[in-house]
Amino acid sequence: MDRPGSVALRYRANAFTDLALDRAAERRDDAAWVQAQWQQPQSRVLAIDSEGRLLANAGRAAPRWLNQDERQRPDAAPSLLGLADGTAYFLLPADDTLANTLHAEPLGLREAGLTLTPFEAGLFAYARALAHWQAVTRFCTRCGAPLTLVSAGHRAQCTRCGHLQFPRTDPAIIVIVEHDGACLLGRQPTWPTGRYSTLAGFVEPGEALEDAVRREVHEESGVRVSQCSYHSSQPWPFPASLMLGFNAEATSRDIALRDGELEDARWFTPQAIAEGVEAGTLKLPFGVSVSRRLIEDWLALRGGEALLQRVLRAASAD
Ligand SMILES: [Zn+2]
Repeated sequence: MDRPGSVALRYRANAFTDLALDRAAERRDDAAWVQAQWQQPQSRVLAIDSEGRLLANAGRAAPRWLNQDERQRPDAAPSLLGLADGTAYFLLPADDTLANTLHAEPLGLREAGLTLTPFEAGLFAYARALAHWQAVTRFCTRCGAPLTLVSAGHRAQCTRCGHLQFPRTDPAIIVIVEHDGACLLGRQPTWPTGRYSTLAGFVEPGEALEDAVRREVHEESGVRVSQCSYHSSQPWPFPASLMLGFNAEATSRDIALRDGELEDARWFTPQAIAEGVEAGTLKLPFGVSVSRRLIEDWLALRGGEALLQRVLRAASAD
């Protein structure tokens, strides 16, 4: 199959990727060093509330970095995110009291992908994923005793048996399937009217990504995939996914909605997508999502650059 652009270019295009941060994993167990970084005035601390939103400045165009006074909290459990240009970055989970004290405005990650710099949005995605894991990982999976965070927030250790738990990421495939110049898009019943997206699903235990692509496409649409190739990936901490994007080819256009996840699935030509978006009857996935990127790259390849530009002018970003 023809492949649009270079791998490097496609990778850079995905929101929340290419984060210019040294995660400094080898320093996380050096408690004295981590504490020294925490005390540095130039260190930057971002706060995430209990709903996974970033505390942002008024106008929500930048994170509301905590100053030195604001970060001196007796119950503070900061997590080291990493280093950039010699500056240490930390996550501090924020309770309602802190959120109110800062007079900050909560900002969701999808919106942040459109309003923050790529570095800030990527840092937020990383911090959100870590904060969620910390919030839901409270008890030992072996003995049931409470856990305590170690390694600067990147491990949870059992207070009784010492068992270590690691942050988890759930891999999910997302795929644009094509057949003879048309691509397969589906919609779930809860989505806004007219929204269609690429098919997606979680990888199961003991399953290769290519097998997950074939299984998910068949389960959701009845369509058989003959071959697939990797496109690009994107962290998707809603709450803990890693989206692995693929291009795939189908053996036929026969659709049978099998598992009830989709209420509709259709084949769209590039022209039909452009006309639907321009008429307002078709809505594409969120602008920051890899599904949107898969569709845009496919449109450029099969419909040409001029058609893609038509779609970009007419499509909303959210
Ligand atoms: Zn235990």
